[in-house]
Parts: sequence; structure tokens; C-alpha cells
Amino acid sequence: MKISVFGLGYVGCVSAACLAGQGHRVVGVDVNPVKIDLIAAGKAPVVEERIGELTAEVVASGALRATTDVAEAVADSEISLVCVGTPSAPNGSLSTAYLERVAEEIGEALANKSERHTVVFRSTMLPGTCLDLLVPILEKSSGRTAGVDFGVAVNPEFLREGTSVRDFFDPPKTVIGEIDEASGDAVAGLYEGLPGPVFRVPIPVAEMTKYADNSFHGLKIGFANELGAICRALGLDSHQVIDVFLADTKLNISPAYLKPGFAFGGSCLPKDLRGLVYAAHRADVSVPILSHVLPSNAEHLQRAFDLVARTGKRKVGLFGLSFKPGTDDLRESPLVELAEKLLGKGYDLKIHDANVSLSRLMGANREYIEARLPHLGQLLAGSIEEVLEHADVVLVGTKDPDVLAALPHGGDRVLVDLVRLPDAAERRLEEGYAGL
Ligand code: NAD
Repeated sequence: MKISVFGLGYVGCVSAACLAGQGHRVVGVDVNPVKIDLIAAGKAPVVEERIGELTAEVVASGALRATTDVAEAVADSEISLVCVGTPSAPNGSLSTAYLERVAEEIGEALANKSERHTVVFRSTMLPGTCLDLLVPILEKSSGRTAGVDFGVAVNPEFLREGTSVRDFFDPPKTVIGEIDEASGDAVAGLYEGLPGPVFRVPIPVAEMTKYADNSFHGLKIGFANELGAICRALGLDSHQVIDVFLADTKLNISPAYLKPGFAFGGSCLPKDLRGLVYAAHRADVSVPILSHVLPSNAEHLQRAFDLVARTGKRKVGLFGLSFKPGTDDLRESPLVELAEKLLGKGYDLKIHDANVSLSRLMGANREYIEARLPHLGQLLAGSIEEVLEHADVVLVGTKDPDVLAALPHGGDRVLVDLVRLPDAAERRLEEGYAGL
């Protein structure tokens, strides 16, 4: 393919040289003439493992060249990869100034081009930036329509500085956000033959995936460092602890506990987080991440309450009460907390949880309910139907198959989904559905 790469920094320079190394014909564009001169001399403008040799090789073979002339680069390529910087603005927001400038320049060049061209944004940008800001600029400056006269895609970059050439040829994944199928096909064509899964998703989803990754990487490092600091204060070898932690690929380093859903609770997680944070404070170790896990959880519970409050309806049916499915354990259940919050605000509540009703009858959890939650025990309904008949708002906190089968579609009732129902994607398009 014939490719133009805008911005010859760490991302653009590596993408340009690697794509040229894959057999594509690449022209790099930058506003900085020093970078253009360096490429012309077969030298990489950045320091990276293997980038020097690769740049020398692809420039010598004629597969890579560089220019400051935008119109010429767009005319001489079928696809443009935009890799300009998106630094922090003074107020912490993301500066899109370089992206806007490049979109305008590419748009002007597209006005004079008859063959279809695809504009691909590789820079990191917040969801909405491409469709709400850059596409209108491209359309205004070209006088053409995106997705019809030219293609647009977002293809975030997951390379790590230091090993970026290696990462290019062995990517963890390829994410393609596409305005139409042809745009996605054009991007997929660039990476044909490279390993790793390919995800073709809506453009704002592609933009967000980069933030999911980077915020999680920051969280992981912060978590490990806070844990290490507590270990040191307690005289433990932090690496012994973390090695055991990392060896657990069933619960720790795995998708377990990593799906958005409802708040956590139960007899262990809240108690043990409180205990660890207390131990850290007693040892004068500040652990802001660990200290904010329980407050974050409380915020999430409040979000669920707010979803109900926003409906303006007062008759609520709650499915699920135990702290998680498959148990009748009510200790520190977030659903109990939510039910109590609703009761406290005067909502008219009926509750169904097959496991809890059973234990109330059979006695396993009977004492706990009678001693601690008599006010909720009274609200337990005998059947799913009884709750549905009562409710103007149905709060779903369980994936009990009997409950799922009975849930209504549409109508006047509002369904508040705390568990991401299996048919959530369809329900999201219906009136009267709200989810976490
Ligand atoms: P960088 O600052 O190293 O390079 C940006 C380049 O764009 C510079 O050479 C600059 O001269 C050029 N430029 C600015 N305006 C231009 C214009 N109008 N036309 C042509 N060129 C122009 O930035 P980077 O580190 O390569 O990052 C680029 C983007 O990729 C950012 O959004 C960043 O967040 C993202 N990203 C970076 C990395 C990384 O490891 N550095 C990894 C993944 C994603």
C-alpha cells in the first residue's frame, strides 16, 4: 500500500519505518525540517532499539522518504496515518491543536483528490474527538462527506517506547474503529500477516480502549508500589508476596473481577481492605489507591440508587439480595445496603432472592435475617410474579435464570440492570432500560 504518516515522533517514526519494512511505500510528513533531513540521510529521529538500522535500510531501498509537503504526500498515498502529539493542556485536558491542524491540512489536500483516501488517527484521543471534532474539520476543509467520499478510522497505538519495533511486529492486539467497513478494511490491510487478535469496533470504543489500557497500567503500578510499601513497613519481602500473587492466574491475573457490574461486598473483601488500610496507616504508610477502593465502591452503590431515583417512581421490585449469586450469605451485601438506602428514602420495596427465601424458610440464614434484617425479611416476596406485579421499577441484581426468563420488555416499567443482563445490548435500545 502507499501510506503517508503525519508526525515523525516516537509513534510515527516507528510506524513509518516498520510499515516500509513490511513492503509498503511510505512517505513521512512532519512540520519539523530537522526530522525530514534526518530521514533523508537514513537516520531515525528517535532513539529506539533497532530503529536506526531499520530506517537506514528502508530509506536506502526507497520504501521510506519524508517531506513537509502535505498535498504531495496525500496525493501520493491511499491512506494517511496521523501520529501527531496530543499533550496535556495546562488545565489537564487533552490538547487537540495538532490533530485539528493536520485534519485541516489533509482535508484541503483531499479536496483535489478523486481516488478514495482513508484518514486513520493513531494519536491517543478521548472518545468523541474523532467523530465530533476531527471529522467535521475534514469534511469542512475537503467539501466532502466522511464514510462516503473518503474513509476515516481510529487505530490506537499500543507500542511501548524502548521495545516499540519489536512490539510493532508482535502486537498485543490491533484495534480498529471504523466509520464504515471499507475504512476498517483499509487499516486491516496495513497489518496483514501480523499476529495478535484484531478488534473492529465503533470509533469511540476504539478511542476509549487506549485509556482503559493506560489507566489500568498506572493502577497496576500504583497498586504494586503501595503493596510493596506496606510490606517494607511490616518487614516483609514485597517480591515474595507479589510472586505468590502473580502466580495465581485464576483469580488475580485474569479476567476475574474485571467486568463492569455492581458494587462488591460480602464478609471478606470490605473487611480485609479495611484491615489492610488500617495496618498501613498505623505504620505511617500513605496508600491513596487502597484507601479509595471502598469509597469508590460506595460511589458505585450510590450510582445504582440514583438510577432508581431518576425514574421518579416509588414502587420498586428488587431481584437478588445476597452478596453474590449462588449463596444466601447476606453479610455486607451491597444489595442489602441498596435495599436499606431505598427503604430509608421511603421507597415501597418488594424483594425476591430464591436462595435467601429458601434459607429464611429452612433456617440456614434465618437467625441472621431475624436478628439483623427483620425490616428486609418482611419484604421478601413468595414469588417472582409477586415482585413484578408490585414494581414500577425492577432492579435486577441477580442472573437467576428464572428471574431472567420473567423480566418484561418495554411497557411502563423501568428496568434497572445491575448485572449486565445477557440481552443488555438489545435492551439498551428499548425505552425504560437503565444499566450500570
Ligand atoms: P511526539 O511528540 O514524539 O511526536 C509528534 C510529532 O508530530 C512531532 O515530530 C511533531 O513535530 C509532529 N507534528 C506536530 N504537528 C504536526 C503537523 N501539523 N504535521 C505534521 N507533523 C506534526 O509524539 P509521540 O510520542 O509519537 O506520540 C504521538 C501520539 O501517540 C500521542 O497522541 C501519544 O499520546 C500517542 N502514543 C504515544 C506512545 C509513546 O510511546 N510515545 C504510545 C502510544 C500512543
